[in-house]
Amino acid sequence: MRVDTDDLAMLLKLQHIDLEILRAKKRLEELPQRAAILEARTKRKAVEQKRVRLDALRADADQRLANVGDEDAALAEKQRRVQAEIDEAHGDYRSVEARSKELDGFAKRRAALEAELAAIGEELERIEGVQGQVAQMLVALDEKERAATESFVKEGGVLKDVVFRGEAERTALASSLPEELLASYEKTAARTGGVAVGRLQGESCGACRMAIERGRLIDMKGQGNVGVCPQCGRLLVLE
Ligand SMILES: [Zn+2]
Repeated sequence: MRVDTDDLAMLLKLQHIDLEILRAKKRLEELPQRAAILEARTKRKAVEQKRVRLDALRADADQRLANVGDEDAALAEKQRRVQAEIDEAHGDYRSVEARSKELDGFAKRRAALEAELAAIGEELERIEGVQGQVAQMLVALDEKERAATESFVKEGGVLKDVVFRGEAERTALASSLPEELLASYEKTAARTGGVAVGRLQGESCGACRMAIERGRLIDMKGQGNVGVCPQCGRLLVLE
């Protein structure tokens, strides 16, 4: 086909812009912050689950601690009552003996409760320690995600701007190109996923490097200044 020189220059400019848009989109897609954000969120989910388990463990330990405390307080109250009864018995031997046995029972149980209390206390200390670590991990992960997001918005914003301005520019350019030429270009670009126009270099296609048979080349040149590469099918600028 024969293409006006100005149109040819515009076509090459359009390709240049399109490639810039493609590159910017690809870089946007591959920004490492994307993976970092995703990783921080995934880790956060796992740590959150751990936090929930720890909270349940702690609530359970707290409950047991409260139960032991209640039982101990009740026993202390009973001890006081029985002791008062002993004091009031004024040496009634049988009554004192029975009450003393009761007191012994209370004391033993309270000693056992004290040991239990200490054990639960240690357990709580361990849980609180891990809870502290988990809280720190969550803070660190939040910070990681925040920093990655901030950097993504900044870098991504620049790339999005390139895409946005490129698309505006290509729309303007495309509207001034002859329809048929634009359609060929769009079709070829869609098929090749990038470079749609090559320049002839010597006797080879500048895009796929394939040498074109001389007779064929003369034919192509006879038909105009833009042909189609017989190897890769791209538009080939022949002049
Ligand atoms: Zn080619």
